[in-house]
Amino acid sequence: ATQVQKERLDKAGFSQLRLTESWTLEEGKGYYVIHNDSSILAFRLGKDKQAGFSIVGAHTDSPLLKLKPSPIMEAAGLVKLNIEVYGGPLLHTWFDRPLSLAGRVIVNGSPLKSLFVNIDRDLLIIPSVAIHMRRDPKEEWNPQKELLPLFAQGPCQEEDLLELLAEELKIKKEEILDYDLYCYPREKGTFLGKDDEFISIGRLDNLGMCHAGLCALVESEATDKTQIMANFDNEEVGSRTTQGANSGLLRNLLQKISLAQGLTQEEHLSRVYSSFMFSCDQAHAVHPNYEEKADPTNHPKMGDGPVIKLSASKSYATDGYGAALCKKLCKEHDIPYQTFVNRSDMRGGSTIGPISEGQTDIQGLDLGIAVLGMHSVRELQAAKDQKLFIDLLKAFLESK
Ligand code: ZN
Repeated sequence: ATQVQKERLDKAGFSQLRLTESWTLEEGKGYYVIHNDSSILAFRLGKDKQAGFSIVGAHTDSPLLKLKPSPIMEAAGLVKLNIEVYGGPLLHTWFDRPLSLAGRVIVNGSPLKSLFVNIDRDLLIIPSVAIHMRRDPKEEWNPQKELLPLFAQGPCQEEDLLELLAEELKIKKEEILDYDLYCYPREKGTFLGKDDEFISIGRLDNLGMCHAGLCALVESEATDKTQIMANFDNEEVGSRTTQGANSGLLRNLLQKISLAQGLTQEEHLSRVYSSFMFSCDQAHAVHPNYEEKADPTNHPKMGDGPVIKLSASKSYATDGYGAALCKKLCKEHDIPYQTFVNRSDMRGGSTIGPISEGQTDIQGLDLGIAVLGMHSVRELQAAKDQKLFIDLLKAFLESK
């Protein structure tokens, strides 16, 4: 996900900076940093260095199955791989579909080198057990027992798996020191519905929002304010990593920008306190088969525009002020909007919104697109919501 965003930013004329170096920046120009291969933060320097930052944030990760070390397991004369669950996937959606492995391989050298790898063919499958052998539908899935993908018929060792990766990367398997590899579904995304009005694809949560933030930043005109896209890894497991939102990454990026522009610490802080963040993460649409699961008075619908997310517990950053600011923008740009709150007897998810507020002191709000099947291996949204959402983010980034 980060690599694709990098390529699009390169194409749009943004230059890569390193967090380990000192920066020389030019007004109106675009830059980006990548941290630990999996978070990507980009910005276009504003014309007024005292003006605040306008930030759109999202997360690059999605719930997946992660390969464990020493993953080879034999059972019933077949070879399967040992995996653990990353985040909270809907486990039942992972059965009986072609899967493969992708991620990064760390190669020996000084310094160590990360290589991205995707075994671009149907490689694995998790066969479900027959209905005759598992009658109780309420029984929970046991990931250590039931989610292990089938890898080979014959006997094999970890060396064979390393050989597969080495072949793909055109290196020697002895060079591989370690890896972060994940199973992913092979089926492509598709438009469906009577008028092709829906998109069915994996990882809409939250690559849909990374896509929207990226398009909005690339397409926006430069303003006085510095416009920022901050897409973090590891939201699905609590954001507590150096590349997650619960780190100093965004705070330090902002400080490095101000330092490069010659601002004092006091001027930088004034700038921080006049900044605002749109934290973007998918929202739940009302499900046509589970209408009773929705809040009685707030009914987000696929195709009806961006969804402002609120929660009294502050699991979302939005408050009345943030919601009002967003509604004002929508009204000025003819963009429809909706609101989401959880049922009062149901606990919902959280986002990078409140975490980023805690790390940066920058006020923000949470919003997303109304989707169905969140955390399924394939999620669903209305196609037209994507454009509406990009329009809203652009309006925010270009606002005074
Ligand atoms: Zn999410």
